[in-house]
Amino acid sequence: MRFEISKVLDAIEGRVSTDPSLARAVVDLAEVIRWQNLDGGRPASLLRLGMVIDALSRQIGEDSVQVYAIVHRALLSDADLTSNERMVVRRWADDGLVEVLDQPGDRMLEVADLLGLPVLTRARLDGLIGRYPWIGQAGRVLAPVPGAGGPVFIAHVGGGQDPATGSRSPAGVKLLSRQWRCPEPGCALFGGGGGGGAFADLAGTDRGPSEQPPPTLRTGAPTCPRHGARLSDAGQRPRSEVLAVRIGGLVRRRFVLTETEPVAVGRAPDGPGAVQLGQWLNDEARRWISRSHVRFDLGRGGEVVVTDTSTNGSGVRPGGSMVEAERIPLPPQQSRTLGEGDLIELYPGVQVGRAAETASDATYTPNSVMAEAPTMAMRLPRP
Ligand SMILES: [Zn+2]
Repeated sequence: MRFEISKVLDAIEGRVSTDPSLARAVVDLAEVIRWQNLDGGRPASLLRLGMVIDALSRQIGEDSVQVYAIVHRALLSDADLTSNERMVVRRWADDGLVEVLDQPGDRMLEVADLLGLPVLTRARLDGLIGRYPWIGQAGRVLAPVPGAGGPVFIAHVGGGQDPATGSRSPAGVKLLSRQWRCPEPGCALFGGGGGGGAFADLAGTDRGPSEQPPPTLRTGAPTCPRHGARLSDAGQRPRSEVLAVRIGGLVRRRFVLTETEPVAVGRAPDGPGAVQLGQWLNDEARRWISRSHVRFDLGRGGEVVVTDTSTNGSGVRPGGSMVEAERIPLPPQQSRTLGEGDLIELYPGVQVGRAAETASDATYTPNSVMAEAPTMAMRLPRP
């Protein structure tokens, strides 16, 4: 089973992120891996993170959702994990996909507060409502517990079982309007501090400025949560906009568009930030949609501009309207600025729009990140 397990861990790797625009919930990895009653297995297992991510996907009704994981440093040498699992967590840490901390303290709550994200935890947080009033809001603190088809969420306080996103706190908005630099060479979270050199790519320090996590304010000033070092202000963070791809009524993935990086979307476009849809398309859609079908640019005024780069052209659904008579053709090589609620349609049922305006509209079961772990599924407790 070892081969399948590493494939699952690879799949989970695509779902951990400290990108403030893409993370959908915050978890403490040291806590998650020990929720033994989720599968009745070993005392600690990294696969439980996959089960929790799947539960979040199901509950939100979206594929490819990502979580922001805080990791206590001790986890990198936790003897209850397999050596393979420890190696994987170390790689995530080196790449800045998770936050590794000597003293996590309440960093999980700080991140949730700054970014307005829900927290997935079994810890009782009632006593902290005075400090973080949103803890009392429905859907902001949920405990994953065993359910019939995998983990389900229950509320500690505030009620509701659906994860709810709030708005970024004023401090979060301020912190995320700037770029930050850590003085520690090769810092994976706030890189560019003079380290890295020839190995910068390998160390994962080339992350874009819009992907930087929120600094911690526990010292009163913007500080690197990993190194405890005071961060320097490296200027304004580029403007960004989160877009979402909806196929067959379901949001399959989100991506971030910045002023400096246009994004190509198509069957199989080239390039580091390109969005490849091939895996979700049927044969007919595959034939129609070009390798690189449309390109999105973010203008200086924050406007999203779409340019058709395809052979067959695209369409615009004004305000998200699904009325065929209202669909506006976007011929090959033409550009258009996205109006409020507009969706770009590459092929019937294959749409891209602003994430906030593009919700899943079908009851649907997202692809499991655990699809490669048949043994895990068999160990699920019976209802
Ligand atoms: Zn640092």
